[in-house]
Amino acid sequence: MSKSFKNFIDSKWVDSVSGKTFYNMNPANKDEILGVFPLSDAHDIDLAVQAAEKAFKEWSRVTPPMRGKILFEAGKIMAKKKTELAQTLVKEVGKTMKEALGEVKAAVDMLYFMGGEGRRLYGDTTYSELPNRLAITKRYPIGVCGIITPWNFPLSSISWKVSPALICGNTVVLKPARDTPETANKFVELMQEAGLPRGVLNLVHGSGEEAGEALVKHKDVNLISFTGSSAVGRKIAALCGERLAKVSLELGGKNAVIVMEDCDLDLAVDSVVRGAFSVAGERCTATSRVIVHQSIYDNFTEKLAAETKKLKVGSGEDESTDVCPVINEKQLNTIMRYVEIGKKEGAKLILGGNRLTHGVYSRGFYFEPTIFVDVRPDMVIAREEIFGPVLVVFKVNSFEEAIEVHNATEYGLSGSIFTRNVNRAMSAVDRMETGVCYVNAPTFGSEVHLPFGGVKKSGGGHREVGKAALEVFSDWKTIYVDYSGGVQNVQFHKD
Ligand code: NAP
Ligand code: MG
Repeated sequence: MSKSFKNFIDSKWVDSVSGKTFYNMNPANKDEILGVFPLSDAHDIDLAVQAAEKAFKEWSRVTPPMRGKILFEAGKIMAKKKTELAQTLVKEVGKTMKEALGEVKAAVDMLYFMGGEGRRLYGDTTYSELPNRLAITKRYPIGVCGIITPWNFPLSSISWKVSPALICGNTVVLKPARDTPETANKFVELMQEAGLPRGVLNLVHGSGEEAGEALVKHKDVNLISFTGSSAVGRKIAALCGERLAKVSLELGGKNAVIVMEDCDLDLAVDSVVRGAFSVAGERCTATSRVIVHQSIYDNFTEKLAAETKKLKVGSGEDESTDVCPVINEKQLNTIMRYVEIGKKEGAKLILGGNRLTHGVYSRGFYFEPTIFVDVRPDMVIAREEIFGPVLVVFKVNSFEEAIEVHNATEYGLSGSIFTRNVNRAMSAVDRMETGVCYVNAPTFGSEVHLPFGGVKKSGGGHREVGKAALEVFSDWKTIYVDYSGGVQNVQFHKD
């Protein structure tokens, strides 16, 4: 019998109203059922929103430093439970223990960072044009926040959204990804252990189309914060637009590394290999394109293929694994479809390209690290997010062309350049159309005290993480206090 898990509504663990359920499985071994979860619908969402609304009155009046205390406590508990949490991530996402521990760290860091924000939440104090008048701004919570998260970073993406939502005084209904539901239960459990009051954080499991969309459409949800694909993000933005709800979107990427002829070649190769193939390329900031100067192109691609060949594909549970399985059959099929498209488009496949099916691989969703070279910017595999261990390589003749190819995508999440020339590096930073930019470093590795997010189709114009997240999860109030004793107004002209 598989272990049965529940929703968390108004501080009670409950089944879905309909009684329907879904299975959670291990991507490394599809016969291993990790648990049974409630398949919820609009009814369950409504109950959770009602609970969150009820809790909002009191929670929004708890002072931010006191809210922060709970986040600090949660951070401490999470740090203590890091191994257990990482084991859950290894089981349900499929990633390696090292990668999972890195994700737990990112989740803990955010709880601490936002805990500290409880003693800041600064606004402005300034002079009025008029005498005897105080002008200040103050942050206020938005209300009930609907939070929808993806499966690739199920713990850190929850922590990165729930922590700022709570410190600002909002209450939350969380709809995590169906592929990774257990991590969400563990997060909610430890928040309760840390002392979060009743109804402040509610959890509803279910599909995006049903439970997710019901949350997006609910009239009492004032903000939707979503991380996932650009296709779903577009749909959510339209639904929020219809009812004028605030929406924050963190979407896909087609992140590129520019490798110039004056770079440290080994460093560039190592960074590209890690960026492209760790977590099986299923990072939103994964390196999926490399743009290489023609004078080092052959040398670079040779080294890249040699280093990639050394990677071991395997279960996240195996310590020697470099490349973990992909999340599910559907994602695997998407990757295979793109590989076929790449071949038909005339890109040259120099490594991989196949699903692994022999021996233990037959149990899970394993794909070989795959490299296409001689790719043109107009090819489908050069433009669309594949979200798997597939890397495409372009040859360019100049820095100018490198920047042009870099920006020839609808996405703009993260980018990187390898060069020893500081002028060139800074010029690339200025010209790369991305929300995050690296110099001599892989395309991933965000830190919690800095903003995170993308431009173009990688986001909706907001930034979450860092103090930028406060702009998403709070509203400004501008306050004028007149102590002149008379009626004053800047619009009473005296010229
Ligand atoms: P997805 O299909 O967009 O799903 C993301 C979340 O949205 C899941 O919880 C999903 O539920 C839910 N959802 C799906 N359809 C929905 C709908 N119509 N209404 C409301 N919710 C809906 O994305 P994914 O395939 O899981 O994740 C991979 C994508 O996320 C990639 O494109 C990746 O680049 C992006 N990503 C971006 C960032 C970032 O910060 N920029 C970070 C991580 C991932 P179910 O799946 O449970 O049905
Ligand atoms: Mg799963």
